[in-house]
Amino acid sequence: SPDALAIIYGEERLSYAELNARANRLAHWLIRQGVQPDERVAICVERSTHMVVGLLGILKAGGAYVPVDPAYPEERRRYMLKDAAPRILLTDASSRRTWGGTLPDELTVLELDAEQPAWAAQAEHNPVAHGLTSSHLAYVIYTSGSTGLPKGVPNEHRALANRLQWMQDAYSLQAHDVVAQKTPFSFDVSVWEFFWTLQRGATLAVMAPGAHRDADQLARWIIEQGVTTIHFVPSMLGSFLEAHEARHCTTLTRVICSGEALPAAMVRRFAQILPTVALHNLYGPTEAAIDVTAWTCPYHFDDEQVPIGRPIANTQIYLLDPYQQPVPLGSPGEIHIGGAGVARGYLNRPELTDERFLPDPFSRKADARMYRTGDLAKYLPNGNILYLGRNDHQVKIRGFRIELGEIDARLGQHPGVREAVVVARDDHAGEKRLVAYVVSHGHAIADDLVATLRAHLSERLPDYMVPSAFVLLDALPLTPNGKLDRKALPAAGGEVYARQAYAAPQGAIEQTLAQLWQELLGVEHVGRQDNFFALGGHSLLAVRLLSRLRSVLRMDLPLSRFFATRTLADLADAIAEQLPIAKLAMPAIMRLSRERSLPPSFAQQRLWFLAQLEGVSATYHMPLTLRLHGTLDVQALRRSLDAIWSRHDSLRSTFLLAEGSPIVGLLQAESGMPWQEEELPDGAQPVSYVRQRASEEIHRAFDLEQGPLIRTRL
Ligand code: AMP
Repeated sequence: SPDALAIIYGEERLSYAELNARANRLAHWLIRQGVQPDERVAICVERSTHMVVGLLGILKAGGAYVPVDPAYPEERRRYMLKDAAPRILLTDASSRRTWGGTLPDELTVLELDAEQPAWAAQAEHNPVAHGLTSSHLAYVIYTSGSTGLPKGVPNEHRALANRLQWMQDAYSLQAHDVVAQKTPFSFDVSVWEFFWTLQRGATLAVMAPGAHRDADQLARWIIEQGVTTIHFVPSMLGSFLEAHEARHCTTLTRVICSGEALPAAMVRRFAQILPTVALHNLYGPTEAAIDVTAWTCPYHFDDEQVPIGRPIANTQIYLLDPYQQPVPLGSPGEIHIGGAGVARGYLNRPELTDERFLPDPFSRKADARMYRTGDLAKYLPNGNILYLGRNDHQVKIRGFRIELGEIDARLGQHPGVREAVVVARDDHAGEKRLVAYVVSHGHAIADDLVATLRAHLSERLPDYMVPSAFVLLDALPLTPNGKLDRKALPAAGGEVYARQAYAAPQGAIEQTLAQLWQELLGVEHVGRQDNFFALGGHSLLAVRLLSRLRSVLRMDLPLSRFFATRTLADLADAIAEQLPIAKLAMPAIMRLSRERSLPPSFAQQRLWFLAQLEGVSATYHMPLTLRLHGTLDVQALRRSLDAIWSRHDSLRSTFLLAEGSPIVGLLQAESGMPWQEEELPDGAQPVSYVRQRASEEIHRAFDLEQGPLIRTRL
């Protein structure tokens, strides 16, 4: 359909025939320049039709594109050019002006929007990129690097092709669809925005540079352009849903989220505002061709957690422990990605590549590799994966991926800085922001230094990596073994800026208290001058705190005494008055001999007592039914249950009476979990029969003296 609309950008319209002709001319020119498969071609342009023509032209010539955002500081862009070492840079007039000074002599620079571009006279037919295969590179996208410099991730055509084909199979984009192009082209989400749309003959609605930041403007634009498909990072989705016009965006049919955790509350809000629109949560790093898992929000979603779903086609997800062994189902493990999407590694960084791209021991293919993400996740019982967080200092701020170490390193390069550390903190509105903690050399004037550091970073890092707050400290807090104690950095909040000197908790009681406060109040760190109530504490939490104190410090503090204290240090004093420090040392937990009869725990005593009072009952049952799919390996199931049985005394406990008091008896660890198999009676309807039997089992009283009985139906 050559006349179909390929691109809308402001007033500009490009049909497929026009787009193809322009991209072909550019591709012919690039081929004439000698561009070969796997060769990297840099492109530094504003969002526009030229951007799309440029990207498509590079791919058609067989090259790999390297997006260089003109909004990035020049120093970063120059580093990317040095690292990717392209021979050709495509740009436009306004981006050209952002390069002060000269560009390297050996670089051929082409302005795509020039009046009489050098490539205008080239042929318009489809070019042939000789030698191009699916194992050649499609693009190299730079992402933040912990050592102070960004790192390039080269992705191959086959990875991209797999990802886009899966997306089509999953969401079935049609020619009448209009897809928003609003993601900066230096982030890989933009790759599907561009190429899924163009592959499927749909229309790409390209948003003016910068316009995506204003939610109201964005909503109006969606309505005007008739956008059906759009991507949001969750924090942007949150502000979009706040826009007055959001609920009028009735042309939308699907919203695709990725880039950071999608909160359950936002999913519910989404259903209220846009009830007819499908919502998808996708997960994946730049290192594995955009996304590797996907989850579609069910119509009536009322869970507390939003999963990232299951692996996409030809992709394996392994949740592994630090020894690269699969973790048990339901336990947290690090996400390792295998399969078609895995990138080549990091450009010019063999050591880092070896660290993160490992041989895939679970694959039958000899050269298969897997990418170690640093993301933690666990399996839910229904097979979906739940994202849990990071195991390092990589963070996401409004969807932008940031290695905090990169900012630390850049700060450390400033002569006024002796030590610096940057953390991402939740501010009062629940949004994350970057806070830099700096120990300066000598007696710099605080305001001056902060302004200088801000300028220093702005010249070197993208604006989303420049911290919004700088805190000057006399020294960084350290743990007893001399490591940086991130938790002890002063709490975020308005007062951080005023309070220059942070008072870390001192001594065992204060540190224990600080730890308890942190857990109860959900704040990252607590200082000795902090006030429980100012940090969000309330009377219920105070009661919980005192009960925790009781179990941790083995002491009772009257509530009234607690209310009379102002700060954590005050509270510690009040406790110290009542508690000789020596008592803080808890007796070590000793393993009791299993040869002797065991005393019941308090909970067991209660259970036993109730059983005497009411007779055996099903009160303490916690029924759980699992439906297994596929062929059941009975032996494996049995061995697993036996292993659990032998490992956990509590599963084998029975309660016997000795001299009028209950004692705990243990069934033999080696005997294996009691097990009974039943045949489905002739003519029984399997599902209803299993339900009925499960219900009987659930209500069968638990015999404290005999212990458990497991039945299975096969
Ligand atoms: P990027 O390379 O910029 O795509 O960032 C990849 C990282 O973003 C992942 O390693 C995760 O830490 C995070 N991420 C991406 N998608 C999701 C998601 N749906 N839920 C939670 N975190 C995500």
